[in-house]
Amino acid sequence: MRIDLHTHSRASDGSDAPAQLVCRAAREGLDVLALTDHDTVAGLAEAECALPTGLTLVPGVELSCHAGDISLHLLAYLFDPADRDIARESALLREDRVRRAQAIVDRCRDLGAPISWEGVHAIAGDGAVGRPHIAAALAEAGVVRDIEAAFGPDWIGDDGRAYIAKYTLEARRAIDLVRAAGGAPVFAHPGAETRGRIVSDDVIESLAGAGLVGLEVDHPDHDLSMRTHLRGLAGDLGLVVTGSSDYHGTRKSVRLGEYTTDPEAYEAIVAAGVGAMPVRG
Ligand code: AMP
Ligand code: FE
Ligand code: FE
Ligand code: ZN
Repeated sequence: MRIDLHTHSRASDGSDAPAQLVCRAAREGLDVLALTDHDTVAGLAEAECALPTGLTLVPGVELSCHAGDISLHLLAYLFDPADRDIARESALLREDRVRRAQAIVDRCRDLGAPISWEGVHAIAGDGAVGRPHIAAALAEAGVVRDIEAAFGPDWIGDDGRAYIAKYTLEARRAIDLVRAAGGAPVFAHPGAETRGRIVSDDVIESLAGAGLVGLEVDHPDHDLSMRTHLRGLAGDLGLVVTGSSDYHGTRKSVRLGEYTTDPEAYEAIVAAGVGAMPVRG
């Protein structure tokens, strides 16, 4: 069983359409795929319609959150898709993404980059707009070499000159929202130090006490020592250990299914997520 529980489509900052993504997953021999776009479930209907025989789709979302002044991402699986609270909160997150992307574009222009909101909007299409779309515009304009370079200190990285924060949910509140909708919350890439500041183990412990179900341990942004540490912490706190690629198509170098989740861990997520069922193709 090959199980990848964290991927993005064009509904947010991935480059594959949802239908392309599920076809690619089947072609590459995956058995289970979760679609977890940033702050939106808009890609799920298309993914489900195009689901190849033999592939199971786990509906999900990756919610933009914070703990204190540190940003973090919370994966939510198998929550009730009709839940009003999650729908309202994700709509607020998406709306503020637009405000913030426009402000970042303005700042990039002030810094001399010849990009425009219209251009960024064309790249993002209907998807929840994010920094990778702005990074793509900067790369297209020849301001930076590639998307990765745009995330440096000169432009839109967390410490960058053109960085502007977006609205995020307080992490405990997000966990409450997900649990109230029958979902299973998993802390995404908790040790991704290269992307920005990370929370302490004490914060992870308090989130475990608040109803967190799992920790994403095997992830491209974690080195071996971070994985070993997080695996131990998950064991101590009784959290499920997941592994996922966080595939973004051409917007990141990781391959679909490059990191995977053990079947037992997947079963534990399915048991905890009672608001929806995985969809079998
Ligand atoms: P945003 O949600 O708009 O703040 O953008 C964050 C997204 O940018 C993440 O989900 C990643 O897809 C991407 N990202 C963050 N840091 C980097 C990086 N150093 N290189 C490439 N992509 C990144
Ligand atoms: Fe992303
Ligand atoms: Fe993330
Ligand atoms: Zn992600």
